[in-house]
Amino acid sequence: MTFKAIVVNKTEAGLTAELTTLEPADLGEGDVTVAVEYSTINYKDGIAISGRSAIIQRFPLVPGIDLAGTVEASDNLSFKPGDKVVVHGWGLGATHNGGFAQKARVPAGWLTRLPGNISTWQAAAIGTAGFTAMLSVLALEHNGVAPSSGDILVTGANGGAGSVAIALLSRLGYRVVASTGRLNEAEYLTALGAAEIVDRKTLSEPSPNPIQPARWAGAIDAVGSHTLVNVLAQTQYGGAVASFGLAQGIDLPGTVLPFIGRSVTLAGVDSVNAPDAKRDQAYRRLATDLDWRKLDAMTTTVGLAAAPEIARSIFGGTIRGRVVVDVNA
Ligand code: NDP
Repeated sequence: MTFKAIVVNKTEAGLTAELTTLEPADLGEGDVTVAVEYSTINYKDGIAISGRSAIIQRFPLVPGIDLAGTVEASDNLSFKPGDKVVVHGWGLGATHNGGFAQKARVPAGWLTRLPGNISTWQAAAIGTAGFTAMLSVLALEHNGVAPSSGDILVTGANGGAGSVAIALLSRLGYRVVASTGRLNEAEYLTALGAAEIVDRKTLSEPSPNPIQPARWAGAIDAVGSHTLVNVLAQTQYGGAVASFGLAQGIDLPGTVLPFIGRSVTLAGVDSVNAPDAKRDQAYRRLATDLDWRKLDAMTTTVGLAAAPEIARSIFGGTIRGRVVVDVNA
């Protein structure tokens, strides 16, 4: 049975991404075959498809770092046909054919079984971005940040991870401050649960002050660079900052003073190689802590053919919240 997929190829003019038809022999290695229902578009998909960085490590390759669907066939006793599963990260869409296809074959160890109350569409809407937002909330909790500790800053607020982080934190009772370059989206951010909105320009410039007035009990940062340095400098004694993103840059041009002067913790968050126990914990918490109406409100669904162009446009700052790819549409 043939199936539809987006395939990325490398040419002299750069990367191409085209809708094509593949055969079962094209599926690649793995012991579980999944009838994919949905994939999603993350910042990393934009980097991969545009070729801004060498995320895709072999060609031709099906991109898409997320997939959600139903197990069709399994040579592994842990999974059986009919199981609802999700994959975020590992080698998906990088070294191994990814989610922008109607079928995928993956190693069983990459699959997370969905809790009964999470549908495949919802799992895709969560995607790597939402999964990372949950990991970031867990990192703050692990470092002792509680709703009573004070305000929590979320940077990159209109983005996928930022939007989910706001929804999660507000449901958990935190007072959330959203940092954004899109002040015209204040209504959207408030509806997700932001109590206050700040212009990202107030955080993105280099500051001569390595320690600034304490403002945040914690922060979830999608941005890196000067923004993260300023966030650390404004974090209160004993606070924690979960860092997972690089939307402003990969640099961190700051000082150790927030760590050694205020006992601030910088907690790194990686979704790609997160161990199984962490994935299961994150999904158990998403099942109870995410407001599904807010997930609906922040998510747009598009067809497979449209996915490459939308992924390339993610750097333009026009995509709000999450984008799900319906691979059968
Ligand atoms: P999105 O593109 O959906 O969101 C990024 C947001 O960052 C934008 O919407 C914008 O928010 C803000 N932003 C963009 N450019 C800049 C800039 N130059 N300066 C300051 N803010 C900026 O991406 P995702 O939510 O999918 O991912 C966010 C980041 O996290 C990316 O860097 C991604 O690579 C990283 N990531 C890392 C993961 C990990 O495992 N560590 C997993 C998932 C993502 P606004 O318009 O509101 O200002």
